[in-house]
Amino acid sequence: MEDRVDTPVLYSVRMHASTGGRHLCGAERLVGAERLAAVASAMLGRAIDRGGHRLEDLRIHVAAIDPARLRRTGLLPVRTVPAENPPAAWQEAIRLVAGIGVAEAAVRGAVEAIRGGAGPNGANMRGAMIIDAVTGARLEPDPNRGVRVTQMDLEEGIRAAVQEYLVQCSAPHPRVMEALILASKAAAVEGVVAELCVSDDRDYTTGYVGSRDLGYVRILNLKAPGDPRGGRAIFVNGIVSPATVIEALEETPYLVCRMDHV
Ligand code: AMP
Repeated sequence: MEDRVDTPVLYSVRMHASTGGRHLCGAERLVGAERLAAVASAMLGRAIDRGGHRLEDLRIHVAAIDPARLRRTGLLPVRTVPAENPPAAWQEAIRLVAGIGVAEAAVRGAVEAIRGGAGPNGANMRGAMIIDAVTGARLEPDPNRGVRVTQMDLEEGIRAAVQEYLVQCSAPHPRVMEALILASKAAAVEGVVAELCVSDDRDYTTGYVGSRDLGYVRILNLKAPGDPRGGRAIFVNGIVSPATVIEALEETPYLVCRMDHV
């Protein structure tokens, strides 16, 4: 008798481009077999665009997802909070995160780390800090790298509606879409209380706070234009073990398939 071959529902497609061992750009999607070629080709185009002649190494990894592991969740609703300057913006970020059960000292510690370069040598990290929401302790096993939130995407059927929603929210930048998908997954992972993010991009000064309770709150002017420092903090509540939260953030596939608030 032949082995039964189940047709995988979805594939994880990940691209990583680097030069001299330094990260240039990356992307990841969860797609059906019929879209694999188009998605991989778009990733290649993006890496060539971003890396130009510096591009030395490019990897695209495709892996079938076990349908039993796939989780589905809703898109966080988006709102934008204006702030005149970085001090006012940070104050708002701290108020928001502290308002949903993260100790103020823990938030302030994360803010200090992000503003000063969260890696041990003051450089930006590739991933997120994992921070105990009560004690403020850093829990990520490798403080240079941090924890990469991966294995998430929008269900194809709602992509156009999400794009339209972001236009209505005056946030049509593709960066917002990517961060919103990541934030929607992070917020859905059991044990995560909140996320705080500032881009490394020196020209992108809007950061955000994300959580199940607050949604995705964009905060304007979190850093001054030209500032290359950025970072991400994910606050965890200690009810679920850090290892379990980290495993879910890194490995469990999440498909954002609903817009409950629209
Ligand atoms: P970005 O918004 O891509 O500029 O990233 C801002 C910061 O978030 C970076 O400095 C990293 O520390 C962190 N980061 C970027 N991508 C991820 C990811 N997939 N998972 C966790 N943290 C990330």
